[in-house]
Amino acid sequence: MDDVIIIGGSFAGLAAALQLGRARRKVTVLDTGLPRNRFAGRSHGMLGHDHKPPLDILAEARRQLARYPAISLVNARADSISGAIDDFSVLTGDGVTLKARRLILSYGVVDQMPDVPGFAEGWGTSVIPCPYCDGFEVAGQHWGLVWSGPQSHNQVRLFHDWTERLTVFADGRDISPDIRADLARRNTPVVDGRITEIVRRGSHNATVKLDIGPDVEVDILFAHPRNKPSASLHEALGLATVDTPLGIVLKVDERRETSMPGIYAAGDLSNPLIPSVTTASWQGAMAGIAAQQSMLA
Ligand SMILES: Cc1cc2nc3c(=O)[nH]c(=O)nc-3n(C[C@H](O)[C@H](O)[C@H](O)COP(=O)(O)OP(=O)(O)OC[C@H]3O[C@@H](n4cnc5c(N)ncnc54)[C@H](O)[C@@H]3O)c2cc1C
Repeated sequence: MDDVIIIGGSFAGLAAALQLGRARRKVTVLDTGLPRNRFAGRSHGMLGHDHKPPLDILAEARRQLARYPAISLVNARADSISGAIDDFSVLTGDGVTLKARRLILSYGVVDQMPDVPGFAEGWGTSVIPCPYCDGFEVAGQHWGLVWSGPQSHNQVRLFHDWTERLTVFADGRDISPDIRADLARRNTPVVDGRITEIVRRGSHNATVKLDIGPDVEVDILFAHPRNKPSASLHEALGLATVDTPLGIVLKVDERRETSMPGIYAAGDLSNPLIPSVTTASWQGAMAGIAAQQSMLA
């Protein structure tokens, strides 16, 4: 039996494994190799790893973890989890049942692309979610923002630290008169109509085609599609969740324990605020330490 099985071996899961391995706890990490930022050419904002390809950061992390004999990295999908504290079972896609005293869930979330031609194809390059991740590289340029709800108003305020040239695309959503007045005060035009296609053309990164009115060209388009957990393993155990404007995340306490004793969660799967490589890593480290300390004699 393992001390801990970690489901999801990306930034959060590997950070948890590192702490557990250094504490000489027996750990298995199951991973399917699909980190959320795999579409991005470079990852930004993580100290010591800024501007590196995300898959390179993860490959280096896996190489470093190989030093620790108690850590086993396994390329496999977890299909189900069951049991209770000190006696959890995980069934893998290969039909193998693994046992552990604790679980750490770090299987991330999946961004659900809208059915707009060019959106998924541009995701991570011409269509991006986060100014902290990629804003510096396009600062001062003409940005577009696809409105996803009232929370987008905060994005407009945020974006002004990077550019004064911002266009909002309502994309068929209601924007209240109060917010429209504030956008006008900020010299931020609102383009009404639904987005029908996003095309790369000429020097501009994204030409936005609409069901009404002319095309609008921007240098970069920010969008926040809804997301969902990458797996539904938590549902079988009825783990508590929190609703956010963009999807659900697992509810955790300050030690990253979920609503079920012995199961911890880290990374985007349990992060209602600003998901990033840095936050996923510290949450993973915290989950690993909390799981280890919960097993002390
Ligand atoms: C386009 C884009 C660009 C981004 N750029 C940046 C950036 O520049 N800087 C930054 O800090 N953040 C960036 N982010 C955010 C960053 O990608 C996430 O915050 C980070 O990847 C979260 O790490 P995680 O470990 O929680 O989840 P993930 O990295 O999503 O990893 C989850 C892992 O779990 C695995 N998995 C899923 N289901 C199972 C299962 N059933 N069994 C086993 N394994 C499973 C997956 O294959 C994956 O490897 C970006 C996000 C996007 C979408």
